[in-house]
Amino acid sequence: MSKPATLYNRLALIGVGLIGSSIARAARAQGAARSIVVTARSAQTRKRVAELGIADQVVETNAAAVEGADLVILSIPVGACGTVAEEIAPHLAKGATVSDVGSVKGAIVRDMGPHIPKGAHFVPAHPVAGTEYSGPDAGFAELFVNRWCILTPPDSADKQAVDKLAAFWRLLGANVETMNADHHDLVLAITSHLPHLIAYTIVGTADELQSVTRSEVLKFSAGGFRDFTRIAASDPTMWRDVFLANKEAVLEMLGRFNEDISLLTKAIRNGDGEALFNHFERTRAIRKGIVDIGQDSASPDFGRPHPGLPAAPLPKPYASDED
Ligand code: NAP
Repeated sequence: MSKPATLYNRLALIGVGLIGSSIARAARAQGAARSIVVTARSAQTRKRVAELGIADQVVETNAAAVEGADLVILSIPVGACGTVAEEIAPHLAKGATVSDVGSVKGAIVRDMGPHIPKGAHFVPAHPVAGTEYSGPDAGFAELFVNRWCILTPPDSADKQAVDKLAAFWRLLGANVETMNADHHDLVLAITSHLPHLIAYTIVGTADELQSVTRSEVLKFSAGGFRDFTRIAASDPTMWRDVFLANKEAVLEMLGRFNEDISLLTKAIRNGDGEALFNHFERTRAIRKGIVDIGQDSASPDFGRPHPGLPAAPLPKPYASDED
């Protein structure tokens, strides 16, 4: 009888926060690897991961984690990936695939790429899925279901290695798309990075107002502000690194945004109801389009899983007789 396919023999996860621990949980639930070995920077996180029992092995060093692994995924802040790639390079197994989950891809290609030795395959990835929570307790196996995972392999990447990593992400429930790293950074600058910057700004602005008390801001937050506070609670280290690493694309999108907000400011000042109405009608259609393609439900939550509601189920692991 056929049993679930095992894509990799040994999956090594460096970093086991929200994303790393979700990969561990999903990979185990789907039987995507024969064994899962993890490590984290701090002894405290390693201890917690061992208690959670979401991996077969918790080891102390990055070098020990990658030893004999055929898939290595870095799930750490973008700014730390280059140093860790340099550290693990001499310990990688021949033929191993090295990947990451960083929210910026140009910087990852630049920082990690030169360290990946010949004989290993470098396939950067970005699962476009997350919550505002961090750490190994925050992860869950269904995080990637029906979300996109974008692969940004360099032109020279081995096709088989890319296809296998794509199959891994599909097994975890994601839809997979491939694009070049610079285009990824431009797309994500407008769909993710700028919205986070706006949320961080508006929550800070509200906090500094003299004429509206903090208790009024909290009390009447359902008027739109609440959704911004959820985004603005996202991890400060991760987002600092995103803006440092995707500077050019974010500045470009910020410029466009400032131009558009000037137009709306002018429409308000001039009492130009038609301009406001037309703009809002256009943006409402975009929202409807996102709901229609299943990337969000009708309630305003910025695409994050709804607390208290069951997450979408993992796909059925496909069966293989090869295994
Ligand atoms: P997280 O929950 O804060 O976990 C971060 C992990 O990285 C922890 O295991 C931490 O170890 C480790 N770490 C932190 N700084 C490090 C350093 N300087 N060197 C080595 N390890 C370090 O973060 P996350 O949300 O999983 O994010 C991880 C990556 O996923 C980031 O690159 C982010 O851009 C990307 N991403 C995040 C989201 C999201 O919504 N959160 C979505 C898609 C992609 P300790 O616990 O021991 O400190």
